[in-house]
Amino acid sequence: MSKKIGFIGLGIMGKPMARNLMKAGYSLVVYNRTASKAQELVQAGAQQVGSPKEVAENSQIIITMVSDSPEVEEVILGPKGVIQGLKAGSVVIDMSSISPVVTQRIAAELSTKGATMLDAPVSGGETGAVQGTLSIMVGGDEEVFNEVKPVLEKMGKSVVRVGRIGAGGFTKLSNQIIVAAALQAISEALVLAQKAGVDIQLVYEAIRGGMAGGRTLDMKIPMFIQRNFEPGFKMDLHIKDLKNALLAGKSLGVALPSTGLIHELFTACRAQGKGQKDHSVIYTLVEQLAGL
Ligand code: NAP
Repeated sequence: MSKKIGFIGLGIMGKPMARNLMKAGYSLVVYNRTASKAQELVQAGAQQVGSPKEVAENSQIIITMVSDSPEVEEVILGPKGVIQGLKAGSVVIDMSSISPVVTQRIAAELSTKGATMLDAPVSGGETGAVQGTLSIMVGGDEEVFNEVKPVLEKMGKSVVRVGRIGAGGFTKLSNQIIVAAALQAISEALVLAQKAGVDIQLVYEAIRGGMAGGRTLDMKIPMFIQRNFEPGFKMDLHIKDLKNALLAGKSLGVALPSTGLIHELFTACRAQGKGQKDHSVIYTLVEQLAGL
């Protein structure tokens, strides 16, 4: 409890996660590229600083929650990055969803400064971040994991160490493949019902208790029905995850044919200007392919 926690990246996910740490009594030092987005946390007592370097100078546990691999590299290894202000013995926890290969490279750099890195990506969406019920999948040293687990438990209801550094990222890529396939299947199934003139709310009620039921269906059905595609989880970010999964598949010699196809369909959706919408907006592309 006494250790100060640094938090970098206060977007849709990072801000509510940081808020939950504050609610649990931790002192926070925060940095966000767009400084104004930190206001709410500053009003609640967080200390705001002007760079990731200053975050590292002022905390022992540093959490990053930004977009993709290049952004994590910039905030950790860049000229104003965490590594420039890091104290030996600090722990850097990257909770963004990035390439696990990049994670392993960053961890090796940090170890030269006497710091340890864990990768701890999450699933559970904005709702999970707000409610503190995320599923957190962690890679890295077991002893360090046990030390910081109480911190992670303030943000998630399930905190599981899945292996060495990078294992968290590979687990998250697996998760994202499953969610993308579920979204694509649900969209195709419901567009079929819609074009046949069947009410999709009733389809949902009829099938939710059977084998087709599940969390993706439950979470996305209201968005389809209300045609509300505000994120949530941005399509751009899901495309990034599928790209990272395909790259990992290539480097490990694993064919991911359905993931490749869904990556192309999601990319087409982005080309229509929908990259900043929730990933459930894929429904609208499937509608168009059906002439609706
Ligand atoms: P977001 O709302 O777009 O926030 C991204 C954050 O990264 C913002 O704070 C942004 O700063 C910061 N950032 C981006 N590029 C940066 C750079 N070059 N230097 C410094 N900061 C930079 O995204 P999010 O939904 O919170 O997602 C964050 C991560 O969690 C992603 O890896 C995503 O895949 C993962 N994730 C998201 C969800 C979800 O449902 N949203 C669920 C699970 C996992 P600015 O405010 O200045 O733009």
